[in-house]
Amino acid sequence: MSTAKERLTAISGHVNCNSKSYGSSSQTSPELESPQPLIKSPSSSSSSLSSHSIATNNSIQLEKSKPIPGKDTNENGSLPYKRHKLLKWNGWGYKDSGFTVDPNCHDITFTGDRYKIGNRKLPLFKKWVESTLSVDLSNKLTSQCQPDIENIAKPIINESFMKDVKFINIKTSFDPEDRLFRSHGHCLHEIFKLREKGTLERIPDLVVWPRNHDDVVKLVRVADKNDVVIIPYGGGTSVSGALECPINEKRMIVSLDTSKMNKILWIDHINLTAHAEAGIIGQDLEAQLAKYNLCTGHEPDSFEFSSLGGWVATRASGMKKNVYGNIEDLLIHVRMVSSIGTIEKNCNVPRISSGPDIHHIILGSEGTLGVITEVTLKVRPLPECKRYNSIVFPCFEDGYKFMREVARQRLKPASVRLMDNQQFIFGQALKPEADSIWISMKNFFKKLYITKLKGFRVDEMCVATILMEGTIEEVETLENKLLDISASNNGLAAGEENGKTGYMLTFVIAYIRDIGLDYGVVAESFETSVPWDRCLDVCNNVKDCITRQVKKYGIKKPALITCRITQTYDCGACVYFYFAFNYLEGVTGDPVDIYHAIENAARDEIIACGGSISHHHGVGKVRKKWLRETVSDTGLGVMKAIKNYVDPNNVFANGNLMS
Ligand SMILES: Cc1cc2nc3c(=O)[nH]c(=O)nc-3n(C[C@H](O)[C@H](O)[C@H](O)COP(=O)(O)OP(=O)(O)OC[C@H]3O[C@@H](n4cnc5c(N)ncnc54)[C@H](O)[C@@H]3O)c2cc1C
Repeated sequence: MSTAKERLTAISGHVNCNSKSYGSSSQTSPELESPQPLIKSPSSSSSSLSSHSIATNNSIQLEKSKPIPGKDTNENGSLPYKRHKLLKWNGWGYKDSGFTVDPNCHDITFTGDRYKIGNRKLPLFKKWVESTLSVDLSNKLTSQCQPDIENIAKPIINESFMKDVKFINIKTSFDPEDRLFRSHGHCLHEIFKLREKGTLERIPDLVVWPRNHDDVVKLVRVADKNDVVIIPYGGGTSVSGALECPINEKRMIVSLDTSKMNKILWIDHINLTAHAEAGIIGQDLEAQLAKYNLCTGHEPDSFEFSSLGGWVATRASGMKKNVYGNIEDLLIHVRMVSSIGTIEKNCNVPRISSGPDIHHIILGSEGTLGVITEVTLKVRPLPECKRYNSIVFPCFEDGYKFMREVARQRLKPASVRLMDNQQFIFGQALKPEADSIWISMKNFFKKLYITKLKGFRVDEMCVATILMEGTIEEVETLENKLLDISASNNGLAAGEENGKTGYMLTFVIAYIRDIGLDYGVVAESFETSVPWDRCLDVCNNVKDCITRQVKKYGIKKPALITCRITQTYDCGACVYFYFAFNYLEGVTGDPVDIYHAIENAARDEIIACGGSISHHHGVGKVRKKWLRETVSDTGLGVMKAIKNYVDPNNVFANGNLMS
């Protein structure tokens, strides 16, 4: 930690307080220098800030803007701005990472060395997919192996807009691969279509890469002037159809890729805040803050690829929200460029009573109101101690009681997740053979103890994984309390390694759908928030509902229907469902249409049981039909009135939230 005398170095930019201006504050130099210290001594007090500056308000002198690592590219980030060079165009994640099946012996391996299970055979996983989803690993389906460039529609070009854009002097691209990559997120229907057709019906006509807030201001102004549509693009991890272009949009659609706006602009060690550009990717934000012994602690499961602006735009939630809060709890300040001006507050204060919170209009706006360009978040020193643990319970209900009691006592493990029996078994199957608790000698005895002596049934037991952060003493006290609560709910500690592996696998699980699609399995996850007293009902009723629907649609092979409780609150929890089925037998009709019909029935059931439209994935296009009943007629009217005021010409016409 720095002393109170330490001061900050402002790194290219500061906050402009004019509530309706197009701003001119961020002075990003095109040629950036080698890494600069973000925190400096107060002696260097020259300031380029306006009199409204947040720093002045808080008696902190910020230095003149200086950029941090990298050049005028996103080279200081872990993803190139030509993302399809590193990431898959029709599936999840890095090109070099994923599950592959040996065509001869059908062994499954996870490729690459980015993840712990990389380059290792997964014999248990092979057995699991064969038995649980009745997959025939000798029957690999063919899919498009590269984008169908020939069939990608020619771009609609608004000449007058293009003339204006030239003056902004930013990178632009009509390249079909750039456009296709930014035409979707990661919904099942999007990925399925890419694999089948090699393209999508309507894709952006142009991709632009503004470098900072000012570029965005100029872009939005010329888009508004020329009747052009802008769709902001962060990390592209949306699972709500939010990035899809409306099929009937006849105007030119521009995908505004924020990836070049990826710098931390300043860190304030006194107020414990950091101000960053909205395009910074989660893993980069945390890695750069860690150099200063700080973190935001915001870690959604998509954290490797999702962006700060995307988190704000979707009201994201990270797995460690118990300690650090959800994105709305972390947010101190945000700038959003709308087509009528920049929206922001004039101060960086911990709380404000100034009418309805303007931040809450921006949070969850899903790209419909403007472009989020800069964000100030709370930061904290990195935790002294990080410890994992896991607890097995004889049944889900006992696990639920444990979770409820942990929340009731307001204990704050950074993360605690309860997996049902299916996920418990699945988690074991994902481990390389030698790591499975059922295989290694030591754990053979543990299994014996749990099943024979304690009488746990392998087909009923479930597991909670726990991550604790804090000082050593805090973690120790917390762990003891958690173990006490688990013991009074029939739980047995299953060790640190199982807990740790559970969290490591989080990032790998996202790759599974791609191998499923290779062998005729469609899969997706969906989530909700629910009061504690309805939590078990939601879990059980949704599973029953899906089971009925599976029969109704003639799905012959076994389906996977499983859930977990991932986040806890004083008065409720977040529940995630995973549903997958093998469509190669008995299914007539489009498997994706059937999947959506079943998912819709499940969502109706969730809502009937007292659950919500979404805890953190957002509404986008796929959950629009439940928004009116969620927020009331009048509530929806308010949202529409804001949209009409802020964006009268519908520049931000992605069609999310409402029609
Ligand atoms: C495997 C996987 C795991 C996930 N896990 C989680 C999780 O744990 N928690 C969670 O909350 N979500 C999760 N998600 C969902 C997704 O990652 C989040 O919604 C995330 O916040 C989206 O960020 P993004 O940068 O990828 O945004 P994008 O997908 O690029 O965009 C999402 C929406 O936000 C808008 N948008 C993006 N950037 C801006 C901007 N700068 N200004 C204005 N609008 C913008 C877009 O126009 C779009 O409407 C997961 C998704 C996947 C595929």
